[in-house]
Amino acid sequence: MKTTDIVIVGAGIVGLAIARELKARDSGQKILILEKEPELGRHSSGRNSGVLHSGIYYPENSIKARVCAEGAKEMAEFCRARSLPIERLGKVVVPVREEDDGLLDVLFRRGQANGATVEMIDAKTLAEIEPDARSASGRALYSPNTSVVEPKAILKALADELGKQGVEIRLGEEVRHIDPEGILTTNTGQIGFGHLYNTAGLFADKIARYFGMGEKYTILPFKGIYYLLDENSGLRVNGLIYPVPDMSVPFLGVHVTKAVSGKIYLGPTAVPAFGRENYTGFEGANLSDAAGIGVQLFRQYASNRMGFRKFAHEEGLRFFKRNFAEAAGALMPGLRPGHLLKCSKVGMRAQLLDREKGELVMDFVVEKGKNSTHILNAVSPGFTSAFSFSRFALDHA
Ligand SMILES: Cc1cc2nc3c(=O)[nH]c(=O)nc-3n(C[C@H](O)[C@H](O)[C@H](O)COP(=O)(O)OP(=O)(O)OC[C@H]3O[C@@H](n4cnc5c(N)ncnc54)[C@H](O)[C@@H]3O)c2cc1C
Repeated sequence: MKTTDIVIVGAGIVGLAIARELKARDSGQKILILEKEPELGRHSSGRNSGVLHSGIYYPENSIKARVCAEGAKEMAEFCRARSLPIERLGKVVVPVREEDDGLLDVLFRRGQANGATVEMIDAKTLAEIEPDARSASGRALYSPNTSVVEPKAILKALADELGKQGVEIRLGEEVRHIDPEGILTTNTGQIGFGHLYNTAGLFADKIARYFGMGEKYTILPFKGIYYLLDENSGLRVNGLIYPVPDMSVPFLGVHVTKAVSGKIYLGPTAVPAFGRENYTGFEGANLSDAAGIGVQLFRQYASNRMGFRKFAHEEGLRFFKRNFAEAAGALMPGLRPGHLLKCSKVGMRAQLLDREKGELVMDFVVEKGKNSTHILNAVSPGFTSAFSFSRFALDHA
């Protein structure tokens, strides 16, 4: 049986970042990363909006508040030092209803407290930055440093560097069972380990259970559907346009993102899925998963915790193009359903539900046991924060 000091389950951005941090500490330990897919970026880390968030949204004392701004700077430096694509395009946050205006002040204060550069701007400045955006109140928040990157290029660069440092990354190797005393079984055999880092994204709760950890949590997958803006729409988009979010749920709302390629994406939604990897139609749908997800969603709906009913009505309907266009049109009034082109980009949020509280978990969660560390709820801004968050996970969990 092969043995290793450290095994990392999942080669998404978080698993790779943890390996990088362990190497930076020069522990001399043998590190093995197991990834079930034949290539990197098949799940969240390769299917996101590619935005380096500046740290506006997160409440004081949250892990996200602590790690986002720093992580964004580090990720930007990582890209610049390796000539990987990065564009500092800036982002505006606009209230789509007049009553959301007051939340701009909350976001402004949070942004300042979290180390983000933020400015409150008026309608004239908004029109100079994003001529086709609309603010219901006239005011908007501006984050000039928000950047976009190419996530798959970052994953590849990171994996290449880790390989050169002696970290072994095995693709196509799925962890199927774990004896918490330090032996795991994959599709190819058994591996003994000293410490296991669980960075399995959509399956992190299941991996944690082998160690009797994360017992009160379940991952509820929410599908993020995107559309492409028709190049002939005549609409001008210079950077990123976001709505003031519903602060009671952990999603940012349908937004507009100019990618490094210059393409304009609208989305993502947060529509419940029939399985953890149910990206399209019924592909990846799983009957037992779907039943469990259905039960949890029904409970959330019935209890209406965190205003879930309103969220479910609004987001659920965004599955339909007309409703999606309505949400996007609230940001850019010139937008018509015909400007939205179907696109293959779709992501899945590994959103954690706290079953005891009956609440969707807002912050990152790290649980540490005697020979294992579990990263649960690595949702947005998990890509942005990966470097600083992995440091946090090693130091504070
Ligand atoms: C639609 C969407 C948009 C987003 N936009 C942004 C954004 O703009 N900016 C931002 O900062 N964040 C964004 N995020 C969040 C960000 O993408 C995630 O926080 C981040 O990618 C999580 O990384 P991860 O490594 O935890 O998960 P993943 O990338 O999912 O990696 C986990 C890996 O574990 C593997 N795995 C699972 N089970 C096993 C097993 N049993 N054995 C072996 N391997 C296994 C999987 O195959 C997978 O590759 C977005 C997320 C979504 C879904």
